Amino acid sequence: MTRLSISGLRKSFGVVDVLKSVDIEVEDNGFLVLLGPSGCGKSTLLNVIAGLERATAGSIRIDDRDITDVEAKDRDIAMVFQSYALYPSMSVARNITFSMEVRGVPRAERRKAAETVAASLQIEHLLDRRPAQLSGGQRQRVAIGRALVRSPKIFLFDEPLSNLDTQLRLETRALIKRLHQRVGATSVYVTHDQSEAMTLATRIAVMAKGEVAQFGTPAEIYARPASVFVARFVGSPP
Ligand code: ADP
Ligand code: MG
Repeated sequence: MTRLSISGLRKSFGVVDVLKSVDIEVEDNGFLVLLGPSGCGKSTLLNVIAGLERATAGSIRIDDRDITDVEAKDRDIAMVFQSYALYPSMSVARNITFSMEVRGVPRAERRKAAETVAASLQIEHLLDRRPAQLSGGQRQRVAIGRALVRSPKIFLFDEPLSNLDTQLRLETRALIKRLHQRVGATSVYVTHDQSEAMTLATRIAVMAKGEVAQFGTPAEIYARPASVFVARFVGSPP
């Protein structure tokens, strides 16, 4: 079953074509990694999927629903950013459940949801702290909790580990992998790090200059790179 389907997607800023006809499908419970060098259009593609940027042409579907012109808040998508994007004045619990607060969910129910999600991320002891009192790894767990609590149809991650040091990066990567295996959440994950891509992905789209240079499983891309660019980028043996 295809959960997310993108076809003929283009995005221009003025005369600059940042995305040139992107076609991508992500199966239900799939973990697609968009892998490519800085500036190739990965964040732009995520932002268009999230509805933070409008597509210039093409279409985006979730299940049988065309969401190309749907507002970001009505897309049933949650995004995790490199910079965490937490509300500094709110507690961890309130950061995690703010989307429920907006929907008018009662306080006791929100607290319970915050506790459940925090336990799955091993941050239950931090619920009453503010973001400034947390390490980078803990902040990113809060941001992941905020996405999880919404049970969206699709999770988007934009280089969520890039601000973490090596040890935390490996720990948080393993956490994301465990969560994906447990929750089975359909995800699109952006990185320029090939080992991250190989570890997490069910499918990889290698991107170059606004296009998908190759789409396949990690093993296929590693063993049979479609071009010299892909081979160099994923570190395939010559
Ligand atoms: P990546 O995430 O792969 O590093 P981006 O999607 O951020 O790449 O950017 C791709 C290209 O689009 C870059 O050349 C960038 O300068 C350009 N770009 C991104 N956002 C805008 C914008 N709002 N206006 C003009 N150009 C942009
Ligand atoms: Mg980017």
